[in-house]
Amino acid sequence: MAEGTNQLPYFFGNITREEAENYLKQGGLSDGLYLLRQSRSYLGGYALSVSHGRKYYHYTIERELSGTYAITGGISHNSPAELCNYHAHESSGLVCLLKKPCNRPSGVQPKIGPFEDLKENLIREYVQQTWNLQGEALEQAIISQKPQLEKLIATTAHERMPWFHGSISREESEHLLLNGIKTNGTFLIRERDNNGSYALCLIHDRKVSHYRIDRDKTGKLSIPEGKKFDTLWQLVEHYSYKPDGLLRVLTNSCQRSATNSGATGFNFHEQQGLPRLPSRTWSAGGIISRFKSYSFPKAGSKKNATVARTGSISSNPYVSRQLLDRGTDSSMYSMPMDTDVYRGIYEDPDELKAQTVEIKREQLSLDEVELGSGNFGTVKKGTLKLTRSERKVAVKILKNESNDPSIQKELLREATVMQQLDNPYIVRMIGICEAENWMLVMELAELGPLNKYLVKNRDVSEKNLTELVHQVSMGMKYLEEKNFVHRDLAARNVLLVTQHYAKISDFGLSKAIGADENYYKAKTCGKWPVKWYAPECINYYKFSSKSDVWSFGVLMWEAYSYGQKPYKGMKGGEVSMMIESGKRMECPPKCSPEIYEIMKLCWTYKVEDRPSFVSVELQLRNYYYEIAQ
Ligand code: ATP
Repeated sequence: MAEGTNQLPYFFGNITREEAENYLKQGGLSDGLYLLRQSRSYLGGYALSVSHGRKYYHYTIERELSGTYAITGGISHNSPAELCNYHAHESSGLVCLLKKPCNRPSGVQPKIGPFEDLKENLIREYVQQTWNLQGEALEQAIISQKPQLEKLIATTAHERMPWFHGSISREESEHLLLNGIKTNGTFLIRERDNNGSYALCLIHDRKVSHYRIDRDKTGKLSIPEGKKFDTLWQLVEHYSYKPDGLLRVLTNSCQRSATNSGATGFNFHEQQGLPRLPSRTWSAGGIISRFKSYSFPKAGSKKNATVARTGSISSNPYVSRQLLDRGTDSSMYSMPMDTDVYRGIYEDPDELKAQTVEIKREQLSLDEVELGSGNFGTVKKGTLKLTRSERKVAVKILKNESNDPSIQKELLREATVMQQLDNPYIVRMIGICEAENWMLVMELAELGPLNKYLVKNRDVSEKNLTELVHQVSMGMKYLEEKNFVHRDLAARNVLLVTQHYAKISDFGLSKAIGADENYYKAKTCGKWPVKWYAPECINYYKFSSKSDVWSFGVLMWEAYSYGQKPYKGMKGGEVSMMIESGKRMECPPKCSPEIYEIMKLCWTYKVEDRPSFVSVELQLRNYYYEIAQ
């Protein structure tokens, strides 16, 4: 739902065209009286209903890929409300100016569509089944990828509907319908072929009529000459309230039964007490190309394993074509859960987690490729042999010449901190290897530091930046919960696994805060990243999760400035003076006011007034969901 639409007094939610006309009639039918409702054919879209000359006019408002809204062929607006305001002054193709909003009668709330009710459960089931996730990993996956999952579910939700029978034959469908109660209006939908077309089979006068449902080039579904829909369930919803060219409206769904199942292997539906779908569980076969936010995972990933078990995808030419069509469209990408670093390796029961994870030298082979270097030495890419598999890893190698035990102690300390942390948005430590050098083996985040990546990739969208900083806030919320302070949170210490998956790294300065304290007090001022530090760190050496929040604000500024250096050209002392005088960095050129507001909140001077990560994460989440719908 677009920002604030639900709160608009003239927004009626998921009502039909006829219901809209009734409300306009009750409202007096004056010229330019209008209301807004949810589109019943286009996902994320709206419809504007206007009365003029005692007639009704309905305009579809589509949500564009860029996240803006427009009446087909018209000017784009940031929200449906903005669009309505615009048409109060410019008719621009409408029958008249929008003069007066038709508000909901008191006590009437926007109507919730059938899918809204189903959605939450469907998403949970889908993530559980597809990536085999549970507990925290499941919750984190849902929170970070909700907009993508919603679109995916919306386009595959028909597979869970009782009227969807999968790829049964025409004869089978007739048999099912006519052997049942034979009531007029009883219907089912079957898959016709693997090209994404279906058939609607409907009883009328004791006979079964079969209507083809074709998919056009843009992925929209329609009965020939009929209205177009994004999803099958929207099509069913539409023909359930009016025949619109069919012999009659759809009334009863011919329910799938457990006996018409041809499925093998995975028995998700049986587990859920649901009748099994013929020959598939969840699949991506229903994805409509218009919603390009989901891509298929690379071979060998968990999703592929599920798909292979159901055996429904690989043989589907429609899906294969989608895979080939994927090309370089940056809006199609794998989700964090598709990568092998979403869950820690020690979740695999075959890889027992020891108290100190010692890695034997023979398990580890190092590449020549250097990923980077820091105070300790170099970080190289490597391969770690596990009991049953291999993993690409990052290996922090201590400089050989440093026989200094205090440096070894520091590395061990960093390893100890990392070992206590287990979150998808934090680089996990895998183990320590003591060989020709001391080596800290970590999860690999191949695309490297966020700041450097953004300097080189200026085409990364605002949505993508928000997705990444939101993930960082999720990792920091976890750290806050565990009572750890990072003390070096900056874009250089956020590493990318993919362009859509960020992990917090570098726990060299991190500290656990004692149970009865809420901050860590440093004894001396070391080599500190002062431009990222809150005033209380500089003035009183006090570090807490709230001072990490300040650093997070600077990190956000770096991200939305595409890797620019904060407080450019200024010395540490000058930065402190600027902060003390109440000034803050300016809004980066391409950054939205909403995001800048969050940054400024992170830079609240007084610790007690500064938000925690619980609050920052929620604000970012809400904004991300709004722009990523
Ligand atoms: P410093 O303490 O000076 O910040 P350091 O010695 O702690 O540095 P890191 O910052 O942890 O070293 O790592 C140096 C560089 O190595 C990073 O900037 C990054 O490019 C690369 N690197 C570190 N960890 C990983 C990883 N897990 N995956 C991929 N690259 C990594």
